[in-house]
Amino acid sequence: MGRVALVTGGTRGIGAACSKALKDAGYNVAASYAGNDEAANAFKKETGIAVFKWDVGDYAACEKGVAAVEAELGPIEVLVNNAGISRDAMLNKMTPEQWSEVMRTNLDSVFNVTRQVINGMRDRKFGRIISISSINGQQGMLGLSNYCAAKAGMIGFTRAVALEGARKGITANAIAPGYVATELLSGVSEKVMEAIVGQIPVGRLGEAEEVARCVVFLAADEAAWITGSTISINGGQLAD
Ligand code: NDP
Repeated sequence: MGRVALVTGGTRGIGAACSKALKDAGYNVAASYAGNDEAANAFKKETGIAVFKWDVGDYAACEKGVAAVEAELGPIEVLVNNAGISRDAMLNKMTPEQWSEVMRTNLDSVFNVTRQVINGMRDRKFGRIISISSINGQQGMLGLSNYCAAKAGMIGFTRAVALEGARKGITANAIAPGYVATELLSGVSEKVMEAIVGQIPVGRLGEAEEVARCVVFLAADEAAWITGSTISINGGQLAD
């Protein structure tokens, strides 16, 4: 039986690609989601991957949700912190709700879920924590001060957890994708999208599967010496 992997927000977009790629690589996968039952059920039917509904921004819900996953599949050995949202506005127009919705879903969630699995990983001396940050956690972007802050926060979290887990067989890494064709970008106008693609040297948006490939790479037992890193996947948009 393969290792157990949980992908938060694993039923759509990048998360769905990660769930499928991990399953194809032999993992026993659970995919969580927030509320889109239709998409989750279609995903479950298509892939046979178990789905679990809870809000990753809610600590108590994460305690229950992770317990439900572990009761059904066994101890989580690979965690992909992927669930995320955007609520874009220039700072001078941003509401406290737009700020806090993004912070709780994109950053509090990383604490809320990782906290549930960290002791088990420490006890078993194996763990892989992979957090999907963003190019916008590495550089600024106008209209995204909430999102940029949360995504940069994920990178700081990853570095600290990597140090804490280093002698316990636990790695923590972030992936910073550039713009990937998913529903998250559905609110972006055609004109802005053209401008974004114009900034990508490879000349196209990324595919969710291209991010998933990196997740599978970092999840492997053989990736034990990669920790505390942020891996950029952005078609050359931020060649650092
Ligand atoms: P999608 O909007 O396509 O999918 C988001 C997933 O997250 C869905 O499964 C959704 O569940 C779930 N989710 C949202 N909020 C919550 C919540 N509160 N609790 C539990 N699950 C939740 O997003 P993407 O695939 O585009 O993005 C995935 C991650 O990658 C995000 O963290 C995003 O910031 C990051 N990213 C995306 C980029 C892009 O260009 N698309 C670029 C860089 C980073 P439900 O279906 O129920 O709504």
